[in-house]
Amino acid sequence: MAKGRYVAPAVDETAFSCPHCGTLTAQRWYVYQAREQKGAPGVWTPERAAEMREKWEEKKGEGEKVVSDTLMEHIEKRALGLPFLSRGSYEGSEYTVYNLSVTKCDECGKLAVWLYDRIIWPQENEAPEPAADMPEEIVADYMEAGSILGASPRGAAALLRLCVQKLCRFLLGDDAKDTIDKDIATLVSRGLDKRVEMALDIVRVVGNESVHPGKMDMKDDRATAEELFGLVNVIVEMMITQPKRIAELYSKLPPEKLKGIEQRNAQAALPKPEN
Ligand SMILES: [Zn+2]
Repeated sequence: MAKGRYVAPAVDETAFSCPHCGTLTAQRWYVYQAREQKGAPGVWTPERAAEMREKWEEKKGEGEKVVSDTLMEHIEKRALGLPFLSRGSYEGSEYTVYNLSVTKCDECGKLAVWLYDRIIWPQENEAPEPAADMPEEIVADYMEAGSILGASPRGAAALLRLCVQKLCRFLLGDDAKDTIDKDIATLVSRGLDKRVEMALDIVRVVGNESVHPGKMDMKDDRATAEELFGLVNVIVEMMITQPKRIAELYSKLPPEKLKGIEQRNAQAALPKPEN
């Protein structure tokens, strides 16, 4: 399914780009119902869940029923530590929790937790908004880079390098080669703007350093990773948006002016008369 354009999640929307999978799709809203829990609830740890699964498999072999498969699945899900919806095991909720809500993505089924008007889980994507004309298949990687920027600037840089690779393929179509290096060379031979060439090379080299650590240590270099997002947007802006805008405006010139331009160019192309 197409990821669609990027629409920022907002409390008054029922469709926006999912903070998990990036897909622009319907998001269902849920409110919290609450009842007092006597004593501390504790959590199911992965270890406890694993022990339980082991015991359960043993007992099952002996034909004894301890827990059902569905309950076991439920426990394992809880041990993952991520929020999920489960049909009411608590009855008679006493309260409604206000200013706290949940949205569920129609595409990936994952939940986002909201406090008042903002998502508190998953952690907010730190990528600057992708350029308006960024191809859909690249937006997903770009957003994923944003989601891991805090945890791994290296990983983010590597994903942005992948964005640049896909961008070259997008621009070259069937002429794309197997490496970004060759693709940039092809674009240069076709008159690529020097500034775009530099931006492409920065993302290519820095993104690669992050995969094969060399002289540049990207491990904790969040600032550099942040710069790369801006560069990817600049590349889209200059290689896709600007040519598109100029072509649109050009096509609106009066036909006689276009004819005049054609004639001028034809004349300029003629060999100069010899003296
Ligand atoms: Zn999703």
